[in-house]
Amino acid sequence: MTHATPLAAKTTPPMQVPLLDLKPQYAPLAREIMAAIERVCASQHFILGPAVKELEAAVAAYSQCRYGIGVSSGTDALLLALTGLGIGNGDAVITSPFTFFATAGTIARSGARPLFCDIDPDTFNLDSRSVAALLQRECERRGEHVFHKGSGTRVRAVMPVHLYGQLTDMAALMPLAREWGLAVIEDAAQAIGAADAAGRRAGSFGDVGCLSFFPTKNLGAFGDAGMCVAQDSELASRMEILRVHGGKPKYYHALIGGNFRLDEIQAAVLNIKLRHLDEWTAGRQRNAAIYDAAFARAGLGGKVTTPRAQPGVRHIYNQYVIRAQQRDALRTHLAGAGIGTEIYYPVPLHLQQCFAYLGGKAGDFPHSERAAAQTLALPIFPELNQGQLEYVVESIRAFYQA
Ligand SMILES: *Cc1c(COP(=O)(O)O)cnc(C)c1O
Repeated sequence: MTHATPLAAKTTPPMQVPLLDLKPQYAPLAREIMAAIERVCASQHFILGPAVKELEAAVAAYSQCRYGIGVSSGTDALLLALTGLGIGNGDAVITSPFTFFATAGTIARSGARPLFCDIDPDTFNLDSRSVAALLQRECERRGEHVFHKGSGTRVRAVMPVHLYGQLTDMAALMPLAREWGLAVIEDAAQAIGAADAAGRRAGSFGDVGCLSFFPTKNLGAFGDAGMCVAQDSELASRMEILRVHGGKPKYYHALIGGNFRLDEIQAAVLNIKLRHLDEWTAGRQRNAAIYDAAFARAGLGGKVTTPRAQPGVRHIYNQYVIRAQQRDALRTHLAGAGIGTEIYYPVPLHLQQCFAYLGGKAGDFPHSERAAAQTLALPIFPELNQGQLEYVVESIRAFYQA
């Protein structure tokens, strides 16, 4: 490194800012976590043991819910919620097209039909006005049931996604869902601990809240893990039975379930990490505020729109997502400056090839399509320092100045 040529000096970025680096979060907890893993190994109790029970109680309480059912992933949490509510063939579930694939993927895998509704462009979350319009224009009540006229399916539920760590407007959505007799499954995979202005947390509004502990989420396991949280004891116990193939007592099956179990080792890791979740969330919020201020100073008004947190809410910033002009060129420029970014998500789900059978086409959901074309996630993890965040904003300013 002592022979840096002028060329190398010119092209080597002054700083590296990865999109996510989990190592600084692990290092201070390593001894405690390894000891907990060793305890599980010594017990040889790997499946649904005391660590899973402890985590279920702790996450349910954290999410202001009565029950927690630990599962193998956030995706499996969604699938378990759908099957727990008896949703399947001949049914339909309303959701957002601007989300991770698993949201609509699990609806389709349950046998139901995803019915997409556009998002609110300010929050990127399902807009209850477009849900109301779909119900009024494209659905009809027959007796106690609601049918989607075009497909003949029975509309059973709505699945809002609390994208990037900010709640969907549940004050608007819940009364609408109840008015139409629909169940509500919250895809809270990115939103553990997110709250509305009254302090009510993600997962506590609907029938089931689905959490993910994928390593990139705010509370990340050392592999795949997830949880369903719920308020109703009957629904919770049905999901608990479906988690183990629907067998209760063991080997006697009134229901067809699957293997959706959460590993004891993952639960042991998560029990330790949960105690630090609030300080990590505070770090993400501090970083978001540093970005907001730096962008305001940079005066990029027409070029970059920073994320809009609704007044008084607890946004947990699983992602800090801007809208940017010339998004793809900006992304390439930032990569050259040593800055990691990602696009969540480049193709709205109604335009995915696997959902062609639903008949979606470009122009159906303009807010979702624009979001897919314009959004860019910047590094936001808690251990970033102010210098790195200001370097990101400075690099974005330089791109638009050039
Ligand atoms: C991560 C995620 C999921 C799936 O969770 P996994 O644990 O990866 O299976 C579902 N929905 C959304 C919105 C997500 O971000």
